[in-house]
Amino acid sequence: MKNRYFYLTALMILVAISAFAVNSNSQTIYNNTYKNKFNGNYGCYNAGIESKLAEFRSKRTSNPNAEFTGGLVHKTPVEGQFLRLLIIYIRFPDDVEIGGDMNGFAVWKDPAMPMPVNPHTKDGKFIDTAEGSALVDFTQRYRQYTISDYFSEMSLGTFDVIGDEYAVTLPQTSTFYRESGFNYAQINEEAIRLADQQYNIDFTRYNNWSITPDGWEWTPASGDMFVDMVVTVYRKAPGYPEDDWFFGIGFPISGLADLGIGSPFHLDSTGIYGGSGVTCMSILQNYSKMTQIMLHEITHRYTGDHYEIGLMTGVEHSCFNYSPYERSLFEYITPTEISFPYTEQSAEFTLRDYVFTGDLLSIEINSSGEKYYIANHQKKSAYDGISRGGKICWDINGVQQDPYCDEGKGLYIYQQMIPARCNNFKNISLVQADGKYDWYIERMVPYFIPGFNFEIPLYERLTGNPSGKSEFHQPLDLVLTNMQEVNDDPCSDKDEDYFVTIDWLGDSKDGFNMGYDEIFSPYSNPPTITCSGAETGLTIQLLSQDIITGDITIKVFYDDALAVSELPPAKPKNLKVTKDIFEPLSGGFHPALSWDKNSEPDFAGPGNENAHYNIYRSVIRACQPDTGVEFELIAAVSSDSGSYIDTDVTLYPEGGGSVLCTDLFRSAMYKIEAVDVTGLASVHSDRSLINGYATECDDSALTGITHNQLPVNFSIFNYPNPFNPATKIKFSLPVAQYVNLKIYNITGQEIFSAFSNEYKPAGYYSIDFDGSNLPSGVYFYVIRTDKYFESKKMVLIK
Ligand SMILES: [Zn+2]
Repeated sequence: MKNRYFYLTALMILVAISAFAVNSNSQTIYNNTYKNKFNGNYGCYNAGIESKLAEFRSKRTSNPNAEFTGGLVHKTPVEGQFLRLLIIYIRFPDDVEIGGDMNGFAVWKDPAMPMPVNPHTKDGKFIDTAEGSALVDFTQRYRQYTISDYFSEMSLGTFDVIGDEYAVTLPQTSTFYRESGFNYAQINEEAIRLADQQYNIDFTRYNNWSITPDGWEWTPASGDMFVDMVVTVYRKAPGYPEDDWFFGIGFPISGLADLGIGSPFHLDSTGIYGGSGVTCMSILQNYSKMTQIMLHEITHRYTGDHYEIGLMTGVEHSCFNYSPYERSLFEYITPTEISFPYTEQSAEFTLRDYVFTGDLLSIEINSSGEKYYIANHQKKSAYDGISRGGKICWDINGVQQDPYCDEGKGLYIYQQMIPARCNNFKNISLVQADGKYDWYIERMVPYFIPGFNFEIPLYERLTGNPSGKSEFHQPLDLVLTNMQEVNDDPCSDKDEDYFVTIDWLGDSKDGFNMGYDEIFSPYSNPPTITCSGAETGLTIQLLSQDIITGDITIKVFYDDALAVSELPPAKPKNLKVTKDIFEPLSGGFHPALSWDKNSEPDFAGPGNENAHYNIYRSVIRACQPDTGVEFELIAAVSSDSGSYIDTDVTLYPEGGGSVLCTDLFRSAMYKIEAVDVTGLASVHSDRSLINGYATECDDSALTGITHNQLPVNFSIFNYPNPFNPATKIKFSLPVAQYVNLKIYNITGQEIFSAFSNEYKPAGYYSIDFDGSNLPSGVYFYVIRTDKYFESKKMVLIK
């Protein structure tokens, strides 16, 4: 339940919306969606389409009541057809904030920059201005890392999106607009009119499509006489989201699929209304994040819904590329479809790279239409960010998910559900190869995005992945400043053992790969089941991979008995090592292994006495690098067992001894394999480890071993919050300065002074605050330095 709670909390804050409303109050519609989501009745998809249809009907002048039968998505299979976007970058004159270190790679870092700069194009533009030739391969038709290129790849060349970018500075400050009661819709209108004055924009150029009962119709410079799509991008709206004046949604968002404009206005006889476009907030993000916000909101013009996987996840750090579900929904690709019930016992398929070829296998898993989508992500597309891969993926572009990370290749299996049937708001989720089994939430920690402060889970690694890297986690120091205290392993690179993610669904972005995780079956963890938990009987086995092309050949078993007889057990999952303490005084312990049991009929249960788990061990001494670790077989245990205590290894926690701990550090690592009655062995489990010391030792020598990095930015937070009765106020100073830190009650009375104009060197600070003698209620801690001022709320609950 704990995790569930975190999930909801985080989602509430993070949802980067998306609304679709046009002719009615968008806020109301959004809130309904929102409410539905959390009631577990996520009917948003249909609502979105209905809303979209209503919008189309209202735009139709000929026969507003005619039945709509066409596609909702633009397609431009013919040369000379394209969707042309009008992009307007907007600044408030009182927006003076320079992008901070979190935004060292911000594309719109400096308020003096009239518009963001795409670091991947020579002219800094985010979109191409001219239609690419249909004779050129769709992957080369536009400049890489432009919106044009993105849609060209996602649609396999069936959707050309081009556009123009203009920049305006609003005549009034955000304070003025806020105090005058303006909302984003009115400011959008002002900005669009201003852009027209400054650049003499020909709005007829952006009116190329009309909606008809048969779908979008190419009607250049005539048709419905409405602009097809305006994208407004605000660098920052001072005051937002703190007092939520700009979007007025009730909580922070970074974009809205709406211009909000209530009564249409005309420029060059071309109408602009709320549904003519989207409103984005750059919030000083880097390339991938800012582009993602724009793409996400643009795509909302075709679907009102959010999905768990893909561009339309609606949350920070969603995947950059379209998921199979999204691409199928928009009919950009046609999957190879296997229908239920199956007519064969098994079949083989070879899947090429998903994004570039559109290769996709769709297997119906029950008569209700639930499906598995199987795709091979070889990361040949720059936008294929389905897996975060190793930590290198975070380095190129700063702290954000990098869409063009090369790591994390492999086969991905997506489960498309029927939300109504499963009473679940998910339309699609990813079946992970190793998944959340490898991580647990250690605790919640503060997460900083400018203007956003909230907590996200801090995960601790339970097991390693085959390459020894943890996956898709952020280098902690770049995001969080309190990480120096979370690591109890003096040898480890802390990035490897702890990570934060706002992918609170767990480590859900791991591909199946040869030698790593090759079998997805009724007996694997996770098993092949429908969303309601019914067995599908399906087994998917990775057969081979072409080393050069990356093509993966799989064998799908529709017949369970055949799969069981032919295949070894699935990879054992969730191997954990904990302490079996045998000396309570010293804390001396043996490593105790546990894992999720395999359940193959030829492995577990009666008649399988010869089936067993092999247990392998390797011990690393005194911070040796763990590359080239040799594991040795130390035991075999019954296939009905799910645990093992390694009494041959004894370790102690640090502290209490008379010798220094240096050189006594040990890391005991384990992995296991499952061997069935016929001698077929599974691939090895992920490695799992436990740390300790060879003898009782004095830990004083450990202090400071790993934690000597200075903070790169200023931050302050307290933990826990709410608290009872004590909490820690932690802050980081990137440079030395005079510091005042005081605590006030709700009436403004100072009740505690930690520092009063004290000169403090750069570093991390932690102040204990004990509220034992204070009443329950809201308190504020306020830090004032030469450079910073921050006031934060904390709540004492007794
Ligand atoms: Zn959205």
